Amino acid sequence: MRTLLLDSSFSPVEVIDWKRAIILLLTGRAEAIDNYEDISIRSPRLSLQLPKTLRLFNLHRSARTVKFSRFNIIFRDNFECQYCGRGGSVKDLTIDHVIPVSRGGQNTWENVVTACGPCNSKKGNRLLREMGVKLKRNPYKPKWTPQIVIKMRENDPSEWQNWLPKKYRLVA
Ligand SMILES: [Zn+2]
Repeated sequence: MRTLLLDSSFSPVEVIDWKRAIILLLTGRAEAIDNYEDISIRSPRLSLQLPKTLRLFNLHRSARTVKFSRFNIIFRDNFECQYCGRGGSVKDLTIDHVIPVSRGGQNTWENVVTACGPCNSKKGNRLLREMGVKLKRNPYKPKWTPQIVIKMRENDPSEWQNWLPKKYRLVA
């Protein structure tokens, strides 16, 4: 069971596990907006219902950065090959280093793009100018937004939809 964490202005921050949810409640840093009715955490001294949604008392999202991951790269690139524009699913798409690692390219936001399988193998170890192609969009480091982080799963509470506008939801 997961808990959706909102900031003090009710904007989605991230999805957290039950242990973090309980710590935030017990340390008084957040309040429960709604609970899983049938799930509670019990110890000899207390019993707490597990929250579906928590709201932080403080706003603290400014320090967040987007995790450098395969999924987030593909998400940044709109699920489209940056060479030919073909769209695909996370499963079909690959990550390509614009300047190949074997030629000194780095594993950074600015040097990776989403590529379809055929384009990736066609490019191989070449540079863009050797290949005679242009990227659809220059790779960049995305700013943090909840839409990159929050991937809804099938058994997540439907109440989350009150706090997650459609553009923030992504069915994993
Ligand atoms: Zn392609």
